[in-house]
Amino acid sequence: MDPHTAAPSDPAAWARRAADLDAADPLAGLRSRFLLPDGVVYLDGNSLGALPAAVPAALEDAVHRQWGTDLIRSWNANAWWDAPLRIGDTLGRLVGADPGQVVCGDSTSVQIFNILTAAARLRPGRDLLLTDPDHFPTDQYLAASVARLLGLTVRGVPIADLPAALAADGDRVAVAAYAPVDYRTGELSDMAALTAAVHAAGAVVCWDLCHAAGAIPVELDAIGADFAVGCGYKYLSGGPGAPAFAYVAARHHDAFDHAVTGWHGHADPFAMHGTYTPASGIARARIGTPPMLSMLALEAALTAFDGVDMADVRAKSLSLTGFFLDCADALLAGTGFTAATPREPARRGSQAALRHADAYPLVQALADRGIIGDMREPDILRFGFNALYVTHADAFAAVAALREITADGSYTDARYAVRAAVT
Ligand SMILES: *Cc1c(COP(=O)(O)O)cnc(C)c1O
Repeated sequence: MDPHTAAPSDPAAWARRAADLDAADPLAGLRSRFLLPDGVVYLDGNSLGALPAAVPAALEDAVHRQWGTDLIRSWNANAWWDAPLRIGDTLGRLVGADPGQVVCGDSTSVQIFNILTAAARLRPGRDLLLTDPDHFPTDQYLAASVARLLGLTVRGVPIADLPAALAADGDRVAVAAYAPVDYRTGELSDMAALTAAVHAAGAVVCWDLCHAAGAIPVELDAIGADFAVGCGYKYLSGGPGAPAFAYVAARHHDAFDHAVTGWHGHADPFAMHGTYTPASGIARARIGTPPMLSMLALEAALTAFDGVDMADVRAKSLSLTGFFLDCADALLAGTGFTAATPREPARRGSQAALRHADAYPLVQALADRGIIGDMREPDILRFGFNALYVTHADAFAAVAALREITADGSYTDARYAVRAAVT
């Protein structure tokens, strides 16, 4: 049944459509790789991924056997030392990077600082750092700080205007720092075309993959990307505070000048030299002792992707977000919602966002019904669709609940207006 032939405002028809799509979903079995609580519709995996079923046992082993029993011998015996590059290679497979170009560790914010400084140092004599004025705040703050540190000027250029800005002033641009997926609207940009435009200007590109890694197919090597960072706890489901990762294309390794010259990035860390000599390869992007328990949790979490083709993840993700947007069009007509996410599949990441003047209380009222999304200022309701565990029935449940709470006005209850520290 085509959704457009469903009675437009009949929720039962949409519920049946969701059930049909779920019954035909080739990835349906992957949901059992996650431990989701009963009675919860989880559409916030773009903020904190759900708990993968492999993680509790891996953490138990990491704590009791590795830490508790093997103690410091674990650095060798349990290959703790290799973890940042080993897990980096696993992450690399999910973002189109051949082995030896991704390091896992530290937070996204720290990795953004690392790659922006190293990228800018590749282009001395150029004075502009271009970034999106709508970029995630931490990315904007770090761009400003790196610019201050290195004597650059930040120019805020929306991603849609990047090609024109490069055409006009390209010879002044050192670095372009952008995200392929807008964290608020879920809009997807053409990474390959933008990377080519940055290179045509002689600059280097730093991609922020927080809302792309594990969500959409990313081909860093194939598009010739220079640098990238990504987050471990969103679509990769590595757990709260999971280590992030940084990608440095192999051709930049020899010139990669790390601002944070920690001892793990040294060519011979246990020689305990008093001066820094960088390791060769991606190992020079290491810093210091990594948070090993979090690293091992992330490594276990990534097994949820074993045998999974990102093309299939993309197909299901588009089906989920497309169904959600169509269903919202039909069932929420006249209730004050508009779609913030583009309709064209090629311009959509793996989340769907709606605008509504009462976004905050609406999201709170949904959470009260066990339907978890989130809100971003000023008026966006965000719903993340992790194709490994979200169903079309989940998408339907969210829209149906929005229809009910707007119809009966229950979301206007005063308790839903109270702001918590984290929105
Ligand atoms: C989630 C996110 C971050 C998070 O940075 P942390 O250092 O992990 O807090 C940064 N940038 C973008 C684009 C994000 O989506």
